[in-house]
Amino acid sequence: MEKYKNFINNSWIDSESKETIKVEDPATAKFIGEISCAKKPEVDLAVSAAKESFNSRILVDMPLLDRAKLMHKIADETRKVSIEGGKLLCYENGKTLTAAIKEFNDVADMFDYYAGLTDKLEGKTIPVAHNVFDYTILEPFGVSAHVVPWNYPLSMIGRSLACSFATGNSTVIKTAELTPLSATIFAKAIKNAGVPKGLINIICGYGKEAGSYLVSHPDVNHVVFTGSVTTGKKILHSCADKAIPAIVELGGKSAGIVFPDADLNHVVDSAKGAIFGVAGQICTAMSRLVVHKSVKDELLDKLVDLSKSLKVGPGYEEGSELTPVISKNQLEKVEGYARSGIQEGAEALHGGKRIDRDGYFMEATVLNNVNQKMTVAREEIFGPVLSVLEYDDQDEAISIANDTDYGLGAGVFTKDLNKASWTASKLEAGQVYVNKWFTGSHATPFGGYKQSGYSREKGIEGLKSYLQVKNVGISLE
Ligand code: NAD
Repeated sequence: MEKYKNFINNSWIDSESKETIKVEDPATAKFIGEISCAKKPEVDLAVSAAKESFNSRILVDMPLLDRAKLMHKIADETRKVSIEGGKLLCYENGKTLTAAIKEFNDVADMFDYYAGLTDKLEGKTIPVAHNVFDYTILEPFGVSAHVVPWNYPLSMIGRSLACSFATGNSTVIKTAELTPLSATIFAKAIKNAGVPKGLINIICGYGKEAGSYLVSHPDVNHVVFTGSVTTGKKILHSCADKAIPAIVELGGKSAGIVFPDADLNHVVDSAKGAIFGVAGQICTAMSRLVVHKSVKDELLDKLVDLSKSLKVGPGYEEGSELTPVISKNQLEKVEGYARSGIQEGAEALHGGKRIDRDGYFMEATVLNNVNQKMTVAREEIFGPVLSVLEYDDQDEAISIANDTDYGLGAGVFTKDLNKASWTASKLEAGQVYVNKWFTGSHATPFGGYKQSGYSREKGIEGLKSYLQVKNVGISLE
């Protein structure tokens, strides 16, 4: 079993405690590697490396075209390790090899995209008086701490780190304890790209220990958190205590509304990736479908056919479509949710149970006759469980879709684009997909309404969250 280490100040650091975190392949439940477990001393080391690099102004004062070139270099080096890193990600997370390699390439794309924006962070001049020259400059916060989840470990690092780096912050990333190994391959790319020491540090420790200590560290000036609502709220409390800004990207319970004129094949194609892909462990998973009663039976038949057709297997086996959930705990949680739905009156048209084989596989589950009172309609399941609810008129459909504490994603399926844009304006969600789930890219702003979080990641919009505005007034008298 290979042992991996924390990446601090461009060196590979063992933890003082010598403790390690063992990592499983969720397709077999066998250990595949371990990583030194970061605790307070390693968090202190990483934060102090980041602080020192920020205070040296090596990135802040770097000519902006040079910063952009360095970011393109990081992108190139990341592409070079995408197969090695993708394999490790596929083994530790369970997702397909294709998706895992793509995740590395997405990180590279993020760096290329934000590289092009490093010299476009323009301030403005403000008319005050004829004898005052007043202008704004956009400045980084300093040490930015990023805490990431296990479902898209590399993508989550990529989108926040590229923005943080482009704006001149020094960053400490804490990876998730279930999937920390592939990020060490990305750290190799950082080193190969020649990034000066201390600007990017990647550590892994337990959330309650290393994570909470990192976000409350006195030398951290800015926090980015992606994960559950429960942890997000704790982190917000901790940031409030220090009065520092936090970006929080949290969970979801996204609904797709299916109008009677929808092309049902679009709905089924979306379901394949958006609720059964990555075993449904997607923050913007299409976990609810709110379907007009006139097309519900036809759609249910197609969804059941899809669920039956999915090839179950580990992500590293050619052709696998339904891959494992991340852990035994997660499997028990997801199966428990499916069971609770059935006990509360839903009908499992397909699935509902774990699959009898090694590893943590859950059946692709389609629950019919779900209503808004049921737990499966309200809570984030984070597994391959699709809840189908019926509506009669469009106001009812919107009201069902919005009837949740979450507001991450939403969808509309219709051929009538007037109806689509009207519905999109009524939906309480940070992103709305019309006729195809996941239409976004690195350039589209991403984030939540309501308890799904605030601030935005990705796109030009994302830059705002990593910069503070300084106003300068010069008297010309
Ligand atoms: P989680 O909240 O349990 O953990 C996320 C990270 O926080 C991990 O690195 C963990 O170690 C750390 N952590 C845990 N407790 C902490 C604490 N007290 N202080 C500091 N750090 C702590 O979430 P998870 O189970 O890893 O991820 C799944 C959740 O993430 C789902 O709710 C999913 O919807 C959400 N998610 C959201 C987005 C988004 O962009 N909105 C993207 C991916 C995942």
